[in-house]
Amino acid sequence: MRGLRRSRLPGAAPGRRMRGCAALLAMALLLPAIAQAEWFRREDAIMGTRIYVELWLDDAAQGAAAIDAVIASMHGVDELMSTYKPQSQLSRVNARAALEPVAVDRELFDVIRASLEFSKLTGGAFDVTYASVGYLYDFRARQRPTEAQIAKALPGVNWRNVQLDPKALTVRFEKAGMRIDLGGIAKGYAVDRAIGLLQARGVAHAVVSAGGDSRLIGDRFGRPWIVGIRHPDDPKRVVTRIPLVDTAMSTSGDYERYFDEQGVRYHHIIDPKTGHSASRVRSATILAPTAMQTDGLSKTAFVLGAEEALKIIGKIPGVDAVFVTPEGKVLYTPGLQPGESTPLR
Ligand code: ADP
Ligand code: MG
Repeated sequence: MRGLRRSRLPGAAPGRRMRGCAALLAMALLLPAIAQAEWFRREDAIMGTRIYVELWLDDAAQGAAAIDAVIASMHGVDELMSTYKPQSQLSRVNARAALEPVAVDRELFDVIRASLEFSKLTGGAFDVTYASVGYLYDFRARQRPTEAQIAKALPGVNWRNVQLDPKALTVRFEKAGMRIDLGGIAKGYAVDRAIGLLQARGVAHAVVSAGGDSRLIGDRFGRPWIVGIRHPDDPKRVVTRIPLVDTAMSTSGDYERYFDEQGVRYHHIIDPKTGHSASRVRSATILAPTAMQTDGLSKTAFVLGAEEALKIIGKIPGVDAVFVTPEGKVLYTPGLQPGESTPLR
């Protein structure tokens, strides 16, 4: 470990993170954490994923109320932004925005606006309109579109065709056949929102996770939180451990939602240019001050490859990354460099 570093992004809360010589650390993984009387924890399933909240407060009633508030907040984001709920505002956008501007709540507007900024930043690798073709996949049912279906749907994929009116708070699609899915950013947003709620209640030590997106505030008894990055092919093996304080972290992996067919892995991260699963890395972990930032950036390397993604991420102050390549190499941004990277066996 080479000490603490402060990181800052425009518009982001200041964050602190420990540089990690991960190999040196033999501390416990973040989850499951060691039991302590004043740590309150809860697990739930919201937004189609696992939610985990753990926080420190010395009052039991306040601890339970704080967790209740986080859970309620996550349900609120789901109600607004789920594409699985026909009544959600986002479903309404998808149904109507090619016909007329659709008015939305500021929250949804801001998340869509932020997602377009990540599209700009990543040269279109992150693009919430991927869903125009992405909806043709059903990983649980092992279904994928034919090439002809992809070719037909692909013109709907282009973040530049999403028009936002910041005064009227409306969303409009410039083309028919367009859809948005916020599955790659809404969980990060929900985690940040939850952390904001906890901070407003005076919580100074906590972790909130939604699927692959987590954010930590404070430390754990004067020590960093230790977060493990799993091996892409073995959930029990850890590729590396990173000590973290006051930061957000997202890991995307090709092992989360997928099926294999004739040696090809079809998984949930889609290349907006081709409409196929993006497989230039097996997993990508991003560290940054907020979870919306880490979520918005964790898909980049899948689409552009580790090298290109490192170039983009290297230009953003306060952001670090760990990528696992298809060959099993583990690549780090200079801020996390543990020395020689060793190929996975
Ligand atoms: P998690 O849901 O565990 O947080 P990720 O952060 O890796 O997982 O996000 C994966 C999700 O991102 C996919 O399920 C899909 O909804 C969305 N997605 C897939 N490809 C793209 C893309 N190119 N740009 C933006 N979002 C995407
Ligand atoms: Mg995510």
